[in-house]
Amino acid sequence: MIPAAAPAAHAPAAGRTPGGGARAAERFIEFDGVYLAYDEASGNAIEDIGLTIREGEFVAIVGPSGCGKSTFMKLCSGLRRPTQGAVRVDGAAVGGPLKIVGMAFQNSNLLPWRTTLDNVLLPLEIVEPFRSQFRQKRRTEFADRARALLATVGLQGYEDKYPWELSGGMQQRASICRALVHEPRLLMLDEPFAALDAFTREELWCTLRDLWSARGFTVVLVTHDLREAVFLADTVYVMSKRPGRILARREVGIPRPRDLEVTYEEPFTELVHELRERIGRIRRA
Ligand code: ADP
Repeated sequence: MIPAAAPAAHAPAAGRTPGGGARAAERFIEFDGVYLAYDEASGNAIEDIGLTIREGEFVAIVGPSGCGKSTFMKLCSGLRRPTQGAVRVDGAAVGGPLKIVGMAFQNSNLLPWRTTLDNVLLPLEIVEPFRSQFRQKRRTEFADRARALLATVGLQGYEDKYPWELSGGMQQRASICRALVHEPRLLMLDEPFAALDAFTREELWCTLRDLWSARGFTVVLVTHDLREAVFLADTVYVMSKRPGRILARREVGIPRPRDLEVTYEEPFTELVHELRERIGRIRRA
């Protein structure tokens, strides 16, 4: 179903820099002294976050529950604004929800009354400029695009099935297609594989790796699974308990393309161990 080995080497989207050229590509997402308090009574959910993510980078955020990982995602995608500090994406301050973002979550959230294809097409029916084009004449073209995307994740032949006719892993594949159908430059994933069994999860890692390798979008992946973080990411950030701060930034030096075999090798297991120890220390502190 899924190609075992990685396809062509990853080609970061270096040329796509409408927001300001090379600098914007190097500093695609910038957090500068960012704090967020949902309300005064409960205080800061995250504190003093400062980091830079380059365009095409695959970043994983790990940390204990409630540390602010999802809050970080909301700030990146413009669903929340900082109480203090600045968030810039593609060279511009984030002032509201960004159209260049695609999102997928632990629950695939597919609409049960729509087929797989129609679920994948949903963002194009809602988000401008696709919405107007969809209504005019591009439905067939968009449907072809969605079919092609579904085929790349092994869902060819399932386009007309309803979500309840798909396995959990297939639903999650469809959900990732829906997040990518408008060709976002930034893909935000909030524990997308957490509800899947171990084998399916690893298959989905490979699916995501291959999509990212072929398309070069930037990924921010929130996960509790350290093996997942190390297998997929270029850079892993470790967050503290609430109020969430970035405690560590760890580059994953394991060469690409990576296949599942690397997860049994020493550099991989050592890095997972190191991260596990750091998080253990945070939890005990
Ligand atoms: P994580 O994703 O790491 O589990 P979250 O970012 O969801 O953490 O939450 C960080 C903290 O902010 C938690 O203490 C959570 O209860 C709180 N929080 C999250 N969303 C809201 C909200 N809409 N209103 C108030 N508090 C919130």
